[in-house]
Amino acid sequence: MNHLKDTFKHKGMRNILINELKEKGINNQDILNAFEKIPRHFFLDLAFEEQAYSNMAFQIGSGQTISHPYTVAFQTDLLEIEKGDKILEIGTGSGFQTCILCALGSKVFSIERHRDLHLKAKQIIHHFNFNPKLFFGDGYQGNQSYAPYDKILVTCGAPEIPAELKKQLKVGGIMVIPVGEGVEQKMIKLTKLNDDEFNLREYGTFKFVPMLERTVK
Ligand code: SAH
Repeated sequence: MNHLKDTFKHKGMRNILINELKEKGINNQDILNAFEKIPRHFFLDLAFEEQAYSNMAFQIGSGQTISHPYTVAFQTDLLEIEKGDKILEIGTGSGFQTCILCALGSKVFSIERHRDLHLKAKQIIHHFNFNPKLFFGDGYQGNQSYAPYDKILVTCGAPEIPAELKKQLKVGGIMVIPVGEGVEQKMIKLTKLNDDEFNLREYGTFKFVPMLERTVK
């Protein structure tokens, strides 16, 4: 595939994006390094190659979008990732965020409800030396087989925090999830204090595609 080439021009565009992320307040160097390592244009159609490094969301097929780079960086920052963390991601989408988590040394389990996006992400991620486990399924159920998780990241807008995901989070673990019914959601960081108690903090307003139930073949 022609667009799976990473040139000096792409690297230059990535550096500009990284500076923008810094200006917007992302100063975790590990996250900035991960953005330098993962060519975002690999995850977009060839037609969008030039824009891959602008701070924009894009269509990735099946009516879904790849999140803004800033949103990816911001959610990743809230997760307080430590090397070796077991992370459950809901909404694989393009697979870009999955790769950023892998680049930070996490063991990633990612669920996507659109079969064609799941398959496409699998193909692209195959080009990296990462080994995340990708599942076609409904994120509302999480994935009990590998639970509990140190961190859970939801990359679609949920009407409420799914009970099953709260259960599958380790005590002391963190879940980052955009919550809201309409076009806008509040970014929530939830910390699990014990089996029944959670600490919730809000981090501003974002726009995500909705978290929907059931899978799409
Ligand atoms: N992390 C992605 C963001 C994609 S947008 C990226 O970096 O590209 C959010 C994704 O969540 C979409 O692909 C959408 O199909 C998926 N999604 C929505 N509801 C879901 C659910 N219940 N379970 C799993 N994935 C879901």
